[in-house]
Amino acid sequence: MNRKLIALTVLSSILLGGCQAGDLPFVKNDKGEQEKNQSETGGHSDKKADKEPDDLQASSEMTIPSSSYNVTTDINGKKVIQNSDNLLILVNKEYALPGDYAPKDLVKPNVNFSFGDSDDEKSFLRQEAAKALEDMFQAAMGEGIELFAVSGYRSYQRQEVLFNAEIQQVGREKAEQAVALPGTSEHQTGLSMDISSKSEDLLLTQSFESVPEGIWLKENAYKYGYIMRYPKGKEDITGYEYEPWHYRYVGKETAKILHDKNYTLEEYFKTGKKI
Ligand SMILES: [Zn+2]
Repeated sequence: MNRKLIALTVLSSILLGGCQAGDLPFVKNDKGEQEKNQSETGGHSDKKADKEPDDLQASSEMTIPSSSYNVTTDINGKKVIQNSDNLLILVNKEYALPGDYAPKDLVKPNVNFSFGDSDDEKSFLRQEAAKALEDMFQAAMGEGIELFAVSGYRSYQRQEVLFNAEIQQVGREKAEQAVALPGTSEHQTGLSMDISSKSEDLLLTQSFESVPEGIWLKENAYKYGYIMRYPKGKEDITGYEYEPWHYRYVGKETAKILHDKNYTLEEYFKTGKKI
């Protein structure tokens, strides 16, 4: 009985220890019930050992149409996107939108806004993203989760005003760290919405991650085609601080892939196979 207990303790410590393949010999010489445990543990560890081929297989299956990739032109040493209507557009510190780009299908979604009912440009999104936002907010409400849209579309000109105001306040160097350069804000795509809740006083705060509204979004947004664009721990990849409030529409199919694989949009394009 005691031996069994010890074996179980050993087994659980192996399981909790993350099933490193190197832990296996530890169980190898045990008998009887332990042997059964060994095969279970072994099976589990094998899964880990197989992880790499699994991933490779998955990534070879993850094909991305070439039309979803950015088409760019170098202007003054910057990569400026030429196919800006692409729903999977990748805008970041590397890829910028042209100064004269504005989506042609901006509409105002029928959702709650933090600033009430106004036709300010920040209430707009591209048509497909707006419909998906409505579906998402409605589904959340059905579960007692009340969401508020805070900031959607932002024109190049508006971003320029915000950026210049920041320069006035803190100087150019600091402004470049805090505010996206005009053309590099994803809000100019009309595919992004900042979201908050009454529990966060309708503000954009990192603590949104731990209130029910933020948790619901993190778990469910992909079902409506949205992804958390700047997740925690991926700051080096996205180039942006963690923003639990910033959601980006990419369509249901891509959102599910990104959610299941825990990929950012950057990783998706890097890993996927262009066809
Ligand atoms: Zn945002």
